[in-house]
Amino acid sequence: MKIKNYYKTSNLEDAYKMLLDDKQNIIIGGGAWLKLTKKIVETAIDITPANLNEIIETKDSIEIGAMTSLHQIEINKALQSHCNGILCEAISHIMGMGIRNIATIGGSVMGKYSFSDILTPLLVMDTSLVFHNYGEISLEEFMNIKRFDKDILVRVIIKKDNRKGYFHKVQKTALDFAVINFAVSKKNKIRIFVGSRPSIAIEPLKAVEYINNQKVVNDEVIATTASIAANEMKLGSNSRAGSEYRKSLVEVYIKRGLKEVMSNEN
Ligand SMILES: Cc1cc2nc3c(=O)[nH]c(=O)nc-3n(C[C@H](O)[C@H](O)[C@H](O)COP(=O)(O)OP(=O)(O)OC[C@H]3O[C@@H](n4cnc5c(N)ncnc54)[C@H](O)[C@@H]3O)c2cc1C
Repeated sequence: MKIKNYYKTSNLEDAYKMLLDDKQNIIIGGGAWLKLTKKIVETAIDITPANLNEIIETKDSIEIGAMTSLHQIEINKALQSHCNGILCEAISHIMGMGIRNIATIGGSVMGKYSFSDILTPLLVMDTSLVFHNYGEISLEEFMNIKRFDKDILVRVIIKKDNRKGYFHKVQKTALDFAVINFAVSKKNKIRIFVGSRPSIAIEPLKAVEYINNQKVVNDEVIATTASIAANEMKLGSNSRAGSEYRKSLVEVYIKRGLKEVMSNEN
């Protein structure tokens, strides 16, 4: 990455105006990912002084400022106890502490990375995003918009709803990207997301519809759900794994995830 100019401000409206000023102007989060790219940046906008690096727990939600580091999230008590701590668990498997101290939740969401271990658990929770200009939007809706207008992500809001959760990252070595990752949650309905397929996280819709329409969820229903998911999901091949191997992982880990969220001990 090459940065021509650097602009630091605590004023989000000023930052937003600067962002729109040139199509090569960008908001810089932790800069951990940007640093690896070949981007030519006209002006890098640093919003560190806006103090968006706090996690605030309210009665109904947990609000994470966009500049909060991944490590802050990993050790936050409210997030560790919500949805069986799946966001903290997912983050704990990303690289080492050095990267987790630099990378931010804002950069992790805005990057929409196909390999993301963060989007997968966020998508099975009731998560919304607050933008400076656009206002609030659900994470799921944001993920479905191909070209979201340039904006500043201000905070990520996770609704506290006593949901049970499961997350698993299949990885070849402790520092590697995921071969594939899974998140499952249960509140009134079951949600399942599969990420790093190797494409971006999606939900196996037929499988989720099937299980949510069953009166009783027993081992047979769980096995059928996992099998529907494995057959409906578009899975690809890359240097980490082939699509057939990923398909067998989908069947195994969706079964495990469903058993975990259906168990009473959680
Ligand atoms: C070596 C390495 C290995 C990694 N391995 C993994 C892994 O295994 N699993 C995983 O899930 N992740 C992994 N990551 C990604 C990491 O978790 C972060 O998601 C990533 O670094 C982006 O966060 P950042 O703060 O560095 O964002 P930046 O690099 O600063 O920005 C990323 C993008 O987001 C935009 N942006 C940032 N903040 C905002 C904001 N507030 N509003 C609007 N736009 C914004 C930037 O303009 C840029 O386009 C890895 C990263 C690195 C560097």
